[in-house]
Amino acid sequence: MDGHAQAGATTRGLALGCIADDHTGATDLANTLARAGLSVVQTIGVPGPDVAVPETDARVVALKIRSVPADEAVAKARAARDALVGAGAGHVLYKICSTFDSTDAGNIGPVTDALRADAGAAIVPVCPAFPGTGRTVYQGHLFVGDRLLSESPLKDHPLNPMRDADLVRVLARQSAAPVGLVAHATVRAGADAIARRLEALAGEGRGAAVVDAICDDDLIPLGEAALRHPVSTGASGLGHGLARALIASGRARESAAAALPEVGGPAVVLAGSTSAATRAQLAAAQALMPVLRIDAAAAVADPERALADALAFAREKLPSGPVAIATSADPDAVAAVQARFGARVAGAALESLMARIAEHLVAWGLRRLVVAGGETSGAVVEALQVKALRIGAEIAPGVPATLALGAPAGALALALKSGNFGGEDFFARALEALR
Ligand code: ADP
Repeated sequence: MDGHAQAGATTRGLALGCIADDHTGATDLANTLARAGLSVVQTIGVPGPDVAVPETDARVVALKIRSVPADEAVAKARAARDALVGAGAGHVLYKICSTFDSTDAGNIGPVTDALRADAGAAIVPVCPAFPGTGRTVYQGHLFVGDRLLSESPLKDHPLNPMRDADLVRVLARQSAAPVGLVAHATVRAGADAIARRLEALAGEGRGAAVVDAICDDDLIPLGEAALRHPVSTGASGLGHGLARALIASGRARESAAAALPEVGGPAVVLAGSTSAATRAQLAAAQALMPVLRIDAAAAVADPERALADALAFAREKLPSGPVAIATSADPDAVAAVQARFGARVAGAALESLMARIAEHLVAWGLRRLVVAGGETSGAVVEALQVKALRIGAEIAPGVPATLALGAPAGALALALKSGNFGGEDFFARALEALR
């Protein structure tokens, strides 16, 4: 530990490496770690050797392995772990959804098994609790608010219906080794008690143990105990516990959210989400900036025309201040477009349109972008060839300001939000936060 302390004033090395099984989950975790006091960078997949990833306390690798075949998830998670350990990570967190989104085929069990084997670990603590969002684990059972997981809307999830709330049973069905439980009474007794119980379960040949957590206070001793193992599996709640434990033990230094460097210049809001929150945010933004409402049906039928119109709008209005460009529409209009073209075709065409608008704007020199919509954000980040996001201050719960790195155009100030996130004044706040 002394070696770390002497490693220099700017950094103590990578204390925590995280493998996130989807992109919005990665940002959620990165934001949670930054709020807990760590410096954080999120990479889009494992960046190539040409990308200079800034030195931070924590690094989150965003993958898309939640609902792919288990072999593919395992291979990608292993490669990410190798890169994180190669960068010096002392502990690796495999970040899953707080609803334990998975099937009997995986991927939480197979990936946890593989990471345990690669790390030479005896056992992996597993806890998807995120009490702040109502996800708690008691006696190994996952609750969503006041409902068992199996009685929550997740029981009808389109890809991974969750019909069993007993996580020991759920994880055992997808794991090679038996699974144990660290119950709440042990968690309340503190980090040493949790560690002793994990050791006993490992001695019984259990490869993973579900750990109870019903409030934020439970996450702190859990984080401390988890750090005594090379790998853990959990949601952002466990990330919070690990971050606080790293700071308490001196392995990371508490810092305020990074003040990101200023990139300057005009800014554009691109809204591809049709959520109620985003529509309300656009309505509020109309008082502050010109808003172009793209006719989605016309745009799917003739994307070149829609692109030219959007760019002409931006070129005319941008000299006077920020502008917003949106495909967002109310549910009836969305249903009509989907009925005519098919939901997937329409969605992909509109995402691609937004991505191409972003590409042109950046080619003109624009460096500040706010994007509303999870899939839309993914399309924009891919088109701009962003490789990493330095995490800055929180704009709204779950949405940090970021500095995008690795794009051929250079550094970009980006705010990427999942459709439902943020209050009505989100766009005004985001534009203020992206300097
Ligand atoms: P959210 O985070 O709200 O789910 P996403 O960007 O992930 O937002 O998803 C919204 C999807 O809806 C995207 O595929 C987008 O292209 C599509 N979409 C946007 N506007 C319309 C519209 N007017 N009609 C149909 N689909 C639309």
